[in-house]
Amino acid sequence: MTLPLPETPLSLAAAESLIGASVDAGRMEAEVALRLVANLHQPGVLDALADGAFASKQKTKGDVITVSRNIFLPLTNLCRNRCTYCSFAKQPDSAEAHTYSLEEVSEMVRGGVATGCTEALMCLGDKPEVAYRSHREWLAERGYGTTVDLVVEACKVALKGGMLPHTNAGILSSEEMQALRPLNASMGLMMETTSTRLRGKGKAHFYAPDKEPVVRIRMHEEAGELRIPFTSGLLLGIGENDAERVDTLMTLRDLQERYGHIQEVIVQPFHPKPSTPMRAVAPIRDDGVVAWVALARLILGPEMNIQAPPNLAPDMLERLARAGLNDWGGVSPITVDFINPESPWPAIEKLRALTKASGQVLKDRGPVYPDWLLGRPEFFDPEMRKQLLRLATDEGYARRPTHQSDEEAA
Ligand code: SF4
Repeated sequence: MTLPLPETPLSLAAAESLIGASVDAGRMEAEVALRLVANLHQPGVLDALADGAFASKQKTKGDVITVSRNIFLPLTNLCRNRCTYCSFAKQPDSAEAHTYSLEEVSEMVRGGVATGCTEALMCLGDKPEVAYRSHREWLAERGYGTTVDLVVEACKVALKGGMLPHTNAGILSSEEMQALRPLNASMGLMMETTSTRLRGKGKAHFYAPDKEPVVRIRMHEEAGELRIPFTSGLLLGIGENDAERVDTLMTLRDLQERYGHIQEVIVQPFHPKPSTPMRAVAPIRDDGVVAWVALARLILGPEMNIQAPPNLAPDMLERLARAGLNDWGGVSPITVDFINPESPWPAIEKLRALTKASGQVLKDRGPVYPDWLLGRPEFFDPEMRKQLLRLATDEGYARRPTHQSDEEAA
């Protein structure tokens, strides 16, 4: 159920009072969030929201913002869904369609290790074998029954090569997640939105059965039952309204309260792609990204890890750094963001400098946050935890890459 947006104007003093009370309580309720969203145009309200979110972040994360050096492995860009904003998924007859062999995975892993990366992000389309006979045949020729069988083998290759997998393979069954759990440091599925409206005709998820909110919520629940450290997130600007965004954040909070397995929440703005049906849709404004990062922090509370990808709001990084996030996500020195290939990653040195300019310090993490690695052993397969600890400092951060200069680390 989504709540209606209230009309009542709010003075800046009243907004500050609501924000302060939420910071003190360690959570913001939906009605308050909606009142603030309806008043973001009032002078000072957005800044007050960002300041409150920053104060909440400082309570538990202190001055630290983290980043994960990773390699992005799009194991297959075939997908059974057709989200109208997506340029990642290709048809099997496209010259750009590609499914990785294990030799290609191995080569990428070698490149990742050589450049000081610890996380191997396995990101791929949903169950392409359901839609495409040619993919079923490709899998069968190599002895795989499903795409998940390929993911399992790719994770083994990454581990053997010295990297730590994090898999986001779309909707997985509980059995599939169980098979992947010992081979993954953490796993994920963007909730994107709980809007059922977007499954309607002409909307972003009409041809995407795996984007049915109830299916995504169920997978989050099953990951919680399996105690998998889980990444989720919000996709901004695909046709959802403000009340639906708040509803999505409240749903994530509810899941976290029930299972405690949500390790991080990504706030990701949609960027229109020229080759897609949504190419003419205006992206969310940078101010909007700041506001929703701040609201994610305030709704989900000071303990949650809140991430905003730095390549998707490059002109707002200084403001974002003080809007409640504590993580810049995965940044790769050798692979592009295959979901947003038009948006290059900033250099890690640049992120380090601007984090420092915001009065904070950038630290390298692996695919697991330090407080999870050191404080929640029950979420990890014992062998996987050993691997994680082997690649971590005593404080739980990623071991400093040998090529990293003292200047970078300062
Ligand atoms: S956004 Fe994901 S699920 Fe949707 S078409 Fe693209 S790859 Fe498939």
